[in-house]
Amino acid sequence: MTTSFPRVALDEDHHVHSTFSDDAVSTVADNLRAARDRGLRVICLADHVRQGSPWVPDFVAAVRELRPAPDIEVLAGVEAKILNGEGELDLPPSLRGVDQVLIADHQYPGDHGPVPPQDMRDALERRECSAADVIDGLIGATLGALEQAATPQLAHLFSLLPKMGLDEADVPGPALDHLAQGCYRAGARVEVNEKWACPSPRTIRALAAAGVPLVASTDSHDCATVGRYTRVREILAAVPAAPVP
Ligand SMILES: [Zn+2]
Ligand SMILES: [Zn+2]
Repeated sequence: MTTSFPRVALDEDHHVHSTFSDDAVSTVADNLRAARDRGLRVICLADHVRQGSPWVPDFVAAVRELRPAPDIEVLAGVEAKILNGEGELDLPPSLRGVDQVLIADHQYPGDHGPVPPQDMRDALERRECSAADVIDGLIGATLGALEQAATPQLAHLFSLLPKMGLDEADVPGPALDHLAQGCYRAGARVEVNEKWACPSPRTIRALAAAGVPLVASTDSHDCATVGRYTRVREILAAVPAAPVP
């Protein structure tokens, strides 16, 4: 169950939320059961953290209790948003026992902290900033964030762009290559994300060409959707064999 180019295993799910996240309904055990029922070989259980989240040790312990599970690797992840242009992450001080840090573009990482995407959209419409500068800032912050985590994983790369009224096609080719090289150097994984249907085939082409490991994820908030891919398959089928400028 691995696609040929780019190589992405579809019998894995690298981003699954449990009840440690406020907005998810299934327990870590429910999610693992669903993953095993569907024959998955890897699951990364991952929940939303902030700097002050006190429950990370409890989450790590809950994941640890599920191991070893027959025929499936069980990873513990935390998902944190990029806070600012430096790429600082909204992470608690101790990440003991956490396997993957999922880096998320939930808000625009502005110079003075996170900015809601609607505010960025308004600012772009009022021409207070340019699309090129906004994209440049997002890529710079993402590159910075890669340095903040020992085991980084880009959660839903560029999901923020449409929320700000922008498009991945607006990202210049050299900027995409620069980001892909940064991901490779940092040893980062990049998700092809079912919930947000991103990144685009063109971005995936650039990442794959740079040797960046790509992983499938549902960003599931309910065990019913663990390991189920429709949009990811469509995106991967559309990845061009040659680079797109
Ligand atoms: Zn997210
Ligand atoms: Zn998520």
